[in-house]
Amino acid sequence: MMEEITPEEALARLFRLGIIVSLISVLHMLTLLLPWYVIDSSPFLRSYFLGYLSTESLIFSVAGGVMAGLGLLVSTFVSSLNKVRLIMAVMTFVGAALMLISPFYLLMVKIPALAVQGKLEWGFFPSVITPIAMLAIGFLIAKPGFSGEASYGGYVAPAVTPPVRAYTPRPAQFSPSVSEGVVRGAAASLVPADEVEPGTICSICYYEIEDADTAVKCSSCSMVFHRDCAESWVNLNGVCPNPNCQRPVTL
Ligand SMILES: [Zn+2]
Ligand SMILES: [Zn+2]
Repeated sequence: MMEEITPEEALARLFRLGIIVSLISVLHMLTLLLPWYVIDSSPFLRSYFLGYLSTESLIFSVAGGVMAGLGLLVSTFVSSLNKVRLIMAVMTFVGAALMLISPFYLLMVKIPALAVQGKLEWGFFPSVITPIAMLAIGFLIAKPGFSGEASYGGYVAPAVTPPVRAYTPRPAQFSPSVSEGVVRGAAASLVPADEVEPGTICSICYYEIEDADTAVKCSSCSMVFHRDCAESWVNLNGVCPNPNCQRPVTL
């Protein structure tokens, strides 16, 4: 079941999603304040490593949060909802990746470089979980089947009212529908052609109609044909051979 939503509703949902992403970014920033590494070597100076003690990790975290926010900002200037979804997803992915790099950069690069003994505190885990949550959201945004956002993928454009203009019927063409016996309008009949202008061509056989005695015309549209041609045609199709007429004809 694909629910149809208006572009306004789609953007409103996108905005709500952006708020969730922003909240997670803020949460991640707060995890930077949690002590997540304790140095054992100095019992009197139990130093807590805070996320922001490393300039690089601070840059990763802040850049990640800003990235996600920027994704939302940019998306508001893009008219295509599919593009919005893509931009949001990419921004969220990149932002989350940067946020995820932050704690691992501290753990695997910064702390070993200091050559100190210590252990991880619980505060490390929230700082990892928040970017993982961001990655999950980015994945959901990018995935076409995602609940409300599925409507971006299967977005149905609102019906465009066609410009009102005078209806000009197209001239009918010889088509299979003619031989299938398209019946329309009041019945007509083949009547003797009183006179035939010189050079008149029978539209069935494309030979000139030379003698009015061998010609008939449709009582409705007055088109002239050879009698034999017209009768053969009517026997087969039951309608006037004139494609612009096609009234039912009985012999
Ligand atoms: Zn003919
Ligand atoms: Zn006719």
